Amino acid sequence: MEQLAELLESLEAFHGVQQPNWPTDPYLFLVWWLCGYPASDAACAKGWASLEREVGVTPERLLAANPRKMAAALKAGGMVPELRAMRLKEIAERVVKEFGGDLVEGLKGLSIPKIRAALKKFPNIADPGADRILLFGGISPVAAVPSNCPHVLVRIRLGLERENYGVVYREAQGMIASEVPARLDARARAYLLLKVHGQRVCKRTNPKCGECPVAGECAYFGGKTRGGGI
Ligand code: SF4
Repeated sequence: MEQLAELLESLEAFHGVQQPNWPTDPYLFLVWWLCGYPASDAACAKGWASLEREVGVTPERLLAANPRKMAAALKAGGMVPELRAMRLKEIAERVVKEFGGDLVEGLKGLSIPKIRAALKKFPNIADPGADRILLFGGISPVAAVPSNCPHVLVRIRLGLERENYGVVYREAQGMIASEVPARLDARARAYLLLKVHGQRVCKRTNPKCGECPVAGECAYFGGKTRGGGI
């Protein structure tokens, strides 16, 4: 079986060097993530552009904004804009009251488990979101897995993914943790390459195996089903 380092080389040769296309600052990511619903890069980017233009994204701007104006701006990102406007106000209020208006400064000095717990108290942030913030915010080189495509690495290595999302995420995370050096740049590179591959080629349904650069190394392509299940 090809080493993960070699798989990543193949993905990079195929997709090119990847950069995050979202704000990597932890506070700004929390805002960006609520700019679209259902959350996707495209929906969040549209809502973000509209919110930034019409209202602004700093805690002060969000707290001062008229909720109806915020909801109108967030409509560009998809459904339930009123609810998302309310959640954004909650985020801004917490950042001001609990973190002195600067989330990064406010988190400094805390242990990683405490930072993770604090992040998970924000709306729509579970472990995958917290992992993404920890890694791309430069806080800790955790083994983050792209939340919309944890199946990519699992398919390549093990075959058909399980139905349980948490199981798939943890399997992918374990592989990254054991094979990608625990450095911010290395883990971010792995995350971005698996993400782009899941978005463009190894889609959740109907993966384009016929045009995949790692098909020759892929257990799923080789017919491995693991019996489906769980
Ligand atoms: S061969 Fe198919 S299942 Fe395997 S990584 Fe490529 S697209 Fe995904």
